[in-house]
Amino acid sequence: MAGEPQADCLFCKIVAGEVPATVVRESETTVAFRDINPQAPTHVLVIPKVHYPDAGTLAAAEPGIAADILREAAEVAAGDKVDESGFRIVFNTGTGAGQTVFHAHAHVLGGRGFNWPPG
Ligand code: IMP
Repeated sequence: MAGEPQADCLFCKIVAGEVPATVVRESETTVAFRDINPQAPTHVLVIPKVHYPDAGTLAAAEPGIAADILREAAEVAAGDKVDESGFRIVFNTGTGAGQTVFHAHAHVLGGRGFNWPPG
């Protein structure tokens, strides 16, 4: 059923506490934890507790939770004090864009400069 935990999903296991993670924030609908392979001094993933494969399908089914992710991302940046210097929120969608975990997640990146266009 849509949104239900998937047995083979790494991020569902993090939500369930079955896989350890360095959790920095948790809300009723989201969990934020440090990326295991950080690409910037701040690199935190904000995920919904419900399972949807990417940000678009999450937003279509649960727009309130998609908004929660954006609000939590801003709180993560403020908590790491990278909000004033600027930070980036990235939703890789599809393998061609670099998505490797098919449970919706926002990357929150900060603490260094960023190029545009992104690589
Ligand atoms: P994607 O490539 O946009 O799907 O992002 C997946 C992210 O999950 C990558 O940046 C990985 O480094 C990260 N990742 C994979 N496994 C773990 C884990 O167990 N804990 C924290 N981050 C992870």
